[in-house]
Amino acid sequence: MKGPFLAAVPVLKKLESAGFEAYFVGGSVRDFLLEKEINDVDIATSATPMEVKQIFSKTVDIGIEHGTVLVLFQDRSYEITTFRSEAEYEDFRRPKEVSFIRNLTEDLQRRDFTMNAIAMDKEGNLIDPFDGQISIKNQVIQTVGKAVDRFQEDALRMMRAVRFVSQLSFKIEDETLNALIDLIHLLENIAVERKQAEFDKLLCGNNRKQALELVLLTNMLSYLPGLLTQEDRIKLMLEYKIEKLNKREMWALLVYCLKIDKKGIEEFLRGWRIPLKEIREIQLILHYLNHRFETSWSLYDLYTATKEIFISTETLYLVIQHIEEQSTIGHYLQVYEGLPIKERSEMDVTGNDLMEWFNKTGGPWVRECLFKVEHAIITGKVANNKKIIKEWLMECNHN
Ligand code: ATP
Ligand code: MG
Repeated sequence: MKGPFLAAVPVLKKLESAGFEAYFVGGSVRDFLLEKEINDVDIATSATPMEVKQIFSKTVDIGIEHGTVLVLFQDRSYEITTFRSEAEYEDFRRPKEVSFIRNLTEDLQRRDFTMNAIAMDKEGNLIDPFDGQISIKNQVIQTVGKAVDRFQEDALRMMRAVRFVSQLSFKIEDETLNALIDLIHLLENIAVERKQAEFDKLLCGNNRKQALELVLLTNMLSYLPGLLTQEDRIKLMLEYKIEKLNKREMWALLVYCLKIDKKGIEEFLRGWRIPLKEIREIQLILHYLNHRFETSWSLYDLYTATKEIFISTETLYLVIQHIEEQSTIGHYLQVYEGLPIKERSEMDVTGNDLMEWFNKTGGPWVRECLFKVEHAIITGKVANNKKIIKEWLMECNHN
């Protein structure tokens, strides 16, 4: 067993010594079998949420109605979910109600794909009633049970299938793929937030190009916010070498390929329920990207962009220009590191200094003057030193 599991073994033991069953389940077991890095270790148990809360001292209710309690244990957190079945589904979405059960196999049966329906006990023994290991070995994504039924129960699973294509480079098994093509319209019923979580992962997987091709092939596009009828523009995206781009660079590229005008960017991204902070970052990248098409980076642009945004912008610029050589990034990074200050708070002058020097009360002029000094410091016209700044300002004022 690997580190994250070993650290979690005492959690299973605690549940077991209280008389319950407990197993590792889901993505962590799958990724462990694939010898990939393991993210969160999820745990399934026969204990009800209330029982879990009695066993552990630090818990957070994150989804009690679905049977999930977050347990904080030895500086780590674990999602512990009660075995459940999802008998009744409503409108092709998540189950109307879940019923807690005491049986592991039934819990595994309600999971989406066979590769995700494997449990592992504290000794590392696998419980695999749906042959998930065979799917993993053959690199196929296959629903537990009939694909048509499983996609009708929860249409998001169709998006999950394609995001796993992106992350794992597996193939979707034939029957599962046919059902996906037939039922893709059911995605209409799925909340945007859930789609976004899957699309984010789809955009960032190693095999993202194939996944995006599947998005086109299956007409999934028509059910994604702002992408209806954008097939040709998405195809544009596939012409670039996109594998190394990070999440916000991928979103920026998507917006770029869609040719959304400046005013429409926020609306498009809000339509995807992207957090405002990320929207602002994507907007900045696109702003500097436009600039970059016209000219090289000035000292002042590097400064205002900040390091992260400048690196993302330059990375994207090189991809769009089909330039594989990345040396400009290193070059500009060096220039950036050499800037006299990296942010406004590092300026050796304040508004109060200015009011004192000019013997004037505050007003818009203070901001303007600070801005002027900031620009002069960045472009090397004046050193970042209070005395020198004062002299420089006095001199400017004379002229
Ligand atoms: P990741 O590594 O991205 O977290 P994951 O497989 O763990 O991948 P999660 O969304 O964390 O994906 O879900 C955990 C587990 O819950 C899955 O492995 C699967 O067994 C089950 N699951 C998640 N979503 C669904 C769903 N829509 N329908 C059925 N089972 C699901
Ligand atoms: Mg997971």
